Amino acid sequence: MLQLYIPLNFLGVLYREIKQSLADMEKLFSLLDQNQDVADRPGAAVLQIAQQGGAEIRFEHVNFSYEEKRQILFDVNFTIPAGTTTAVVGHSGSGKSTLSRLLFRFYDIQSGVIRIAGQDVRDVMQSSVRAAIGIVPQDTVLFNDTIEYNIAYGRPGADKDEIIAVAKAAYIHDFIESLLDGYQTMVGERGLKLSGGEKQRVAIARTLLKNPSILIFDEATSALDSQAEQMIQAQLKEIAAGHTSLVIAHRLSTIADAQQILVMDKGRIAERGTHQELLARQGLYAQMWERQQSGASDGGETADVADAA
Ligand code: ATP
Repeated sequence: MLQLYIPLNFLGVLYREIKQSLADMEKLFSLLDQNQDVADRPGAAVLQIAQQGGAEIRFEHVNFSYEEKRQILFDVNFTIPAGTTTAVVGHSGSGKSTLSRLLFRFYDIQSGVIRIAGQDVRDVMQSSVRAAIGIVPQDTVLFNDTIEYNIAYGRPGADKDEIIAVAKAAYIHDFIESLLDGYQTMVGERGLKLSGGEKQRVAIARTLLKNPSILIFDEATSALDSQAEQMIQAQLKEIAAGHTSLVIAHRLSTIADAQQILVMDKGRIAERGTHQELLARQGLYAQMWERQQSGASDGGETADVADAA
C-alpha cells in the first residue's frame, strides 16, 4: 500500500505545482496581453527615449470607447512634462485607469493621438512602449518563489546590492530582514502571505529595479491608517524622482504635492491644476477634498472618491 501511496502522493504534489505555475503564467499573460487586437504596424520603430529624466507624455484630443456604443473618454488633452508627476482623481468609472491602459497601448483610440517623447504610440513597437513603462498595480502578483526573486524580476540579473538598495528605497528592507529566512523567504500563494501594503512595496522595489522612464502608480483603494498614508506619500516622492509619473489616486492627501492634478468626470477632464489651485477653485476637487477630510477626521478612512458620486 505504501509503495502505491508514495508515487500517488508525489503525483498529487506535482499536479498542484503545475497548476500553480500555470496560474502564475495566466496572471502574467493576462497582465501583459490584455488585448491581442492591437498589432505593430509594419516597420514600426523602437520608441526613442533619452537615457535620463523621463519622457514627456501627451494626450491630444483623445476619444475612446471599449465598445461601439459607449464612449468612455471625450476629447482628453493633457501633457505630463518629462520628469514630473501628474495625478488623476475622479469618481469610480470616470476613466482614470483607462488612461493608463491607453498609454500602454492595450487598446487603440478612436481619434486623437497619444505621444511618448513626441512619438505616436501607434508608430512604435509595443514591446518598446511596454519596456519604457513600469507599473505599480493595485494588486501585485507575487510568484511562488523567494522575496529576492520577486524583486529581481524587475530586472533579471540584478545583483544583491542593487536588490537591497531598491528594497530600502521602497521601505521593505527592514521587514525582509526581520523574517527568519530574510531575502530567501518564500512568498506567494504557497509561501508567506504578505499584506496588501507589503505586496505593493515589493512591487515598488521591483519597479525601481526596472528603472523605467515612465511610472504608473495605481494606488490601492483599500483603507489605510494615516501612518501608512504618509508612507505612501514618501514612497511616491521616492519613486517619482527622475521619472515621468502618472498616479491614479484614491486618497487626495497622498498626491497633494503632485505638479499637476487632473480631475476626471464622466470621461472628461473637468478640472486641472495643483492642489492649492484646485482648492481655490472651489469646484469638484475642493468638494472631494472636503469630503475626504471630514471622512478622515471622524475616524473612518476610505472617504474614497469612488463613493462620492
Ligand atoms: P475606478 O476608480 O473604479 O477604478 P476608473 O475611473 O479607473 O474607476 P475605468 O476603469 O477607466 O474607471 O473605467 C471607465 C469606464 O470604462 C467604466 O464605465 C467601465 O465600466 C468601462 N470599462 C472599463 N474597462 C472596460 C472594458 N474592458 N470593456 C468595456 N468597458 C470597460
